[in-house]
Amino acid sequence: MEEERRSNLDQIEALKKDDPFIDPDHASDNAAVDTDVREQVGHDTIEAEVKDMTKRVQDIDNALRKINKNQYGYCERCKKPILEARLELIPEASFCIDCEKHLRK
Ligand SMILES: [Zn+2]
Repeated sequence: MEEERRSNLDQIEALKKDDPFIDPDHASDNAAVDTDVREQVGHDTIEAEVKDMTKRVQDIDNALRKINKNQYGYCERCKKPILEARLELIPEASFCIDCEKHLRK
């Protein structure tokens, strides 16, 4: 899981470098409108991906903390054990299926 965390962090860094908004010339260039639109879309996509991945790293951090405290595998909401099949699928899951459903509503 720590390895996955690292690879996620690497991907976040890589994505940030792809962000057209990071280009210092961006604001001052007089690019055609379609270029601006393309840059905007690229920026939004990267921003969404970075957000997703940051969330995942946080979830993994959270799970690692729980392992240290011997609370790993228990739902943070109802404190019941999370199904093993679910943990195999999502090792960083913080909630059991029931609570996850409840929280997503
Ligand atoms: Zn629960």
